Amino acid sequence: MSLDPKINLACPYCDESIYETLNWFKKPYSTCPACDKGLAAGQFADIINALEQAMDTRIEEMMNDASHTTCCGKDSCCH
Ligand SMILES: [Zn+2]
Repeated sequence: MSLDPKINLACPYCDESIYETLNWFKKPYSTCPACDKGLAAGQFADIINALEQAMDTRIEEMMNDASHTTCCGKDSCCH
C-alpha cells in the first residue's frame, strides 16, 4: 500500500495554498495551479520530510494503540 495523502502547502511565489497529493509535491518539476510558476521538488523537500516524519510517528502510535498485539501483527490473520 502506498501512502499518498493529500496535503496543503503554500506556493512559494503567490502564497496560494496548493492542495495536492504528497507525490505531486515530490515530482521533480510541477507548476503552481494558481500562478503557473515552476515549482521544483527541492522547494518543498524540507517541509515534506517533516510531514513524513510526523506521519510515521502517527502510524506507529496507531499500531501501538491497536488491539492487534497478541498475534503476528498481520491484518489478515485475526479476522
Ligand atoms: Zn503560485
